[in-house]
Amino acid sequence: MPTYVVMLGAPGAGKGTQAALLSERLGLPHISSGDIFRENIKNHTELGSLATGYMNKGELVPDDVTIAMIRERLGRPDCAPGAVLDGFPRTPAQAAALAEMLAGLGGKVDVVPYIKVEEQELVRRLTGRWTCRAEGHIFHAVFNPPRQAGVCDHDGSELYQREDDQAETVTNRIRVYLEQTAPLIAHYRAAGVMREIDGNQPIETVTAALLAVLPPAASSEAP
Ligand code: ADP
Ligand code: ADP
Repeated sequence: MPTYVVMLGAPGAGKGTQAALLSERLGLPHISSGDIFRENIKNHTELGSLATGYMNKGELVPDDVTIAMIRERLGRPDCAPGAVLDGFPRTPAQAAALAEMLAGLGGKVDVVPYIKVEEQELVRRLTGRWTCRAEGHIFHAVFNPPRQAGVCDHDGSELYQREDDQAETVTNRIRVYLEQTAPLIAHYRAAGVMREIDGNQPIETVTAALLAVLPPAASSEAP
């Protein structure tokens, strides 16, 4: 049976940072909806030009295009063993679509780590975030600095500050999260798969807490 992990938490909670570490540890692909949108923008695709306006305002890209994009990604062969989903689902409609997609693939949402971080800290994290141009590797000016300022440790590419990480847009993204995504916490809690993780701890401590809540099948796949 494939294993699907859904990372939940506000923008800046540390989903991307932790999903990358878990993906490596579990040998499952890391699927970040935000990264796929940014890749499409970089490559000037139709999907990219549709998404860019919403993203720059800190609004959600419409459900139908987002769902179609993730459906296509999850259907690729590298997802046969499962995936670590980061940034999807973000609405109840996306969560319903995901349940249906995974059932079609012979799986289900196995565990939903919810990384909890208070709002003031989210703003500090997002406004200090530096992202790698090539692969989306994530750093923070103070909390997780690269070895060399402005250069990605992993692939040497340029680090940049995302347009939507400016303070004003960050505030809107947090509002959108509270209105449209936070209801998923109760949804997954009711389903018995939500696991709350204290995100106000150093990155390695959060990773250890996450590994402790993964289903045994996922942990035993670790190399
Ligand atoms: P998300 O994907 O939830 O938006 P990120 O993983 O991109 O969050 O993290 C947001 C910012 O906070 C990044 O700059 C990252 O380096 C930093 N960060 C992530 N986890 C922690 C942590 N536990 N403590 C301090 N800073 C963190
Ligand atoms: P963060 O890591 O800070 O939470 P993301 O990279 O996940 O940000 O997302 C950046 C932007 O991409 C969002 O503000 C939104 O515009 C768009 N986006 C990403 N995932 C989704 C989704 N599941 N549904 C709708 N829009 C999305």
